[in-house]
Amino acid sequence: MFRNFGNLKNIYHDMFKSLNLDDKSGSSTNLPLETERVKCLIIGSGPAGYTAAIYAARANLNPVIYQGLQPGGQLTTTTEVENYPGYPKGITGPAMMDDLKAQAERFGTDVRWGLATRVDFSGPNHKVWIDDEKIIEAETVILATGATAKYLGIEDEKKYAGSGVSACATCDGFFYRGKDVAVVGGGDTAAEEAIYLAGLVNKVYLIVRRNELRASKVMQERVMRTKNVEILWEHQTKGLFGDGVVEGMILWKKKGTPEQEEVLIKIDGFFLAIGHTPNSDFVKDYLETDEVGYIKTLEGTSKTKIPGVFACGDVQDSIYRQAVTAAGSGCMAAIDAERYLSEKLTH
Ligand code: NAP
Repeated sequence: MFRNFGNLKNIYHDMFKSLNLDDKSGSSTNLPLETERVKCLIIGSGPAGYTAAIYAARANLNPVIYQGLQPGGQLTTTTEVENYPGYPKGITGPAMMDDLKAQAERFGTDVRWGLATRVDFSGPNHKVWIDDEKIIEAETVILATGATAKYLGIEDEKKYAGSGVSACATCDGFFYRGKDVAVVGGGDTAAEEAIYLAGLVNKVYLIVRRNELRASKVMQERVMRTKNVEILWEHQTKGLFGDGVVEGMILWKKKGTPEQEEVLIKIDGFFLAIGHTPNSDFVKDYLETDEVGYIKTLEGTSKTKIPGVFACGDVQDSIYRQAVTAAGSGCMAAIDAERYLSEKLTH
């Protein structure tokens, strides 16, 4: 994360952090935080955030975008993107995000490092704390903070990231045509991804840790009817193996019981589908979310329940979660923000 040690306030602030006495408001230093007023603040730099920035900049909203912990968002962790319209030969995720950033900057977007840590949406101007070191007071806020795929937390997921391990079947399934793959999880996402992959690959092993699926009945029936999906009940992942790329997995069957055994299965792709965590924690006190944490928006719009605060991309989308749908919703958010500001002027 970007830190500026160039002034006394920040030095004090970091000293307090290291002493664990920081109260997150900066008031412990008795120095007021720097405050900046902007017309349009965009938080998050995936396809939703940058598309919102392109539209907002072209509508003269002078957007400021804070990139967050992972500049470029989830796509920067994928290799080839082949399903985004307009790239007939495909493009790598990082290159696509560089292009989107350049396009946003071309129209004057102010792209900055920094992480939004908390908000206060109680007043007419919306306050957002950046790195707990600065306050942005924005007339409109566009939340595009995305969602983070959950991982099991085993070392081999990192070792083979982008070399056989993926958390998005729609993004990466195509690379495994005719091969054998595994999907971990028992919810709707896992069922959906297993069925999608079954249409592309030779065989899908669905690794389920319990002896039942969490997925909805209709998805359970569909996955069980799919001939090349084999469900491995009561299996958990111990590790992966392969020379540079995934060549197989080691599973525990009935882990922690007297019948526990290790199973070794050859696969080429290992897909995580154990859920996503929408990055909405920092706004939860002010906005409505569903039980998982996805921000609720007024149907067919990007409007949240707070006037002037809009949400787009994966932080409000539990269903599609694609780069192109995120970009589309980013466009909606910028248009909604522009109309909100015009209406405010005319009232
Ligand atoms: P989910 O419903 O939370 O299911 C997560 C699955 O992963 C569960 O089966 C869980 O096992 C398993 N899991 C979690 N941690 C694990 C671990 N460490 N090791 C092995 N397995 C683990 O997540 P989701 O499937 O992503 O769905 C999220 C929400 O979106 C749900 O409300 C779902 O209905 C919705 N959704 C809807 C659609 C649709 O309508 N088309 C599509 C996708 C998702 P346990 O069951 O044992 O806990």
